[in-house]
Amino acid sequence: MQLLLAEDEQKTIDYLTKGLREDGHAVDAVGNGADALALALGGEFDAIILDVMLPGLDGWEVLRRLRAAGRVTPVLFLTARDHVEDRVRGLDLGANDYLIKPFAFAELLARLRNLARLPRAAPGGGLVAVGDLEIDTLRHRVTRAGQGLRLTSKEYALLLLLARNQGRVLSRTLIAEALWGVFYDQQSNAVDALVRRLRAKLDTPFETPLLHTIRGTGYVLDR
Ligand code: CA
Repeated sequence: MQLLLAEDEQKTIDYLTKGLREDGHAVDAVGNGADALALALGGEFDAIILDVMLPGLDGWEVLRRLRAAGRVTPVLFLTARDHVEDRVRGLDLGANDYLIKPFAFAELLARLRNLARLPRAAPGGGLVAVGDLEIDTLRHRVTRAGQGLRLTSKEYALLLLLARNQGRVLSRTLIAEALWGVFYDQQSNAVDALVRRLRAKLDTPFETPLLHTIRGTGYVLDR
């Protein structure tokens, strides 16, 4: 894979660059957000490993501007432990995955392999599509097979989260954190209830279900 690594700690850069190259990847490393954005906009990378805390432009701003420019390069965020809001913000801005520091190198490789398998979204700006489902993220309009769906704001937020992670199983914990900011044990039930309401509108009237339950793990949106 052709990788862009944006990270400002020299030790981490050296360690990751060496390991990734040994695994057969080509790595461009930059130490600040402005360089990361310039390279990301100018080059063709298979994935970007983006530290949140970068000098100049931070990781969020790099990602926001990259997506605003219509670039869909998969982004793996590196965030600090216990910063739930960082992870949620990253996913909201269109990051594809995140890793919490410190992480095992083997896990980074596994996440990168997973990213490489992601279908590339069409660079159509605000449109997210899964099968015959279309989400217009600018107008917050959802249609399936051309039929408009009326969703509550929480149902919409859940659908968008799942759609942006099409094919990836999201745990109840991750969903609860993304929708409510924190996770309490009781929220497992809230997530399940919300999924039931969404499913009744999204899948029940149609022939093919898109929202799937992965028992003991979570939920996934896929064709
Ligand atoms: Ca940093």
